[in-house]
Amino acid sequence: MEKNIFEKIRDGEAKADIVYRDDYITAFKDIDPNAPVHILIIPNKTIVSLNDIQEEDSSYLSNILLGAKKIAKQFNIDETGYRLITNCGSDGGQEVPYLHFHLVGGLKLGKMISLSKTEKKRFNEYKSL
Ligand code: AMP
Repeated sequence: MEKNIFEKIRDGEAKADIVYRDDYITAFKDIDPNAPVHILIIPNKTIVSLNDIQEEDSSYLSNILLGAKKIAKQFNIDETGYRLITNCGSDGGQEVPYLHFHLVGGLKLGKMISLSKTEKKRFNEYKSL
C-alpha cells in the first residue's frame, strides 16, 4: 500500500522542516500554520489515530508528551503557553490518517472549539432533546 504523506516524511522520502527527532517521535512544521508556532508531532510507528493505539504503544505516547514539552521550550512558548491537539476521525476533523498532535502557540489562542452556525444549531437542538 502506498505510504501516506506523514509516513513519507518520517522515512525521509518527502520534504519537511523537521524540528525534533528521537527514537520514538518526529516533529515538523505544519505546512499551513494556524499560529506562529505550529508543529506536528508523530510517533515513529504507523498508528492511524487515537482509536488505534494499543498498550504496547505507551512509549510512543509518553514520548509525544515529553517531546511536546521540549519543543515548546525550543520555540520559547513554554512560559507563554500553548495547546496540544489531536483530531480523531471525521467529526474530529482528521485529514491525515496517521496519529499526530498539533503543538500550537505564539499568540493567544481562541476558543478551544469553534462551531459553525449550522453545527451550533444542531448542538442546541440535541441539548434540548
Ligand atoms: P489534521 O486535520 O489534524 O489531520 O491535520 C493535518 C495537518 O497536516 C494540517 O494542519 C496540514 O496543514 C498538515 N499537513 C498536510 N500535509 C503536510 C506536509 N506535507 N507537511 C507538513 N504539514 C502537512
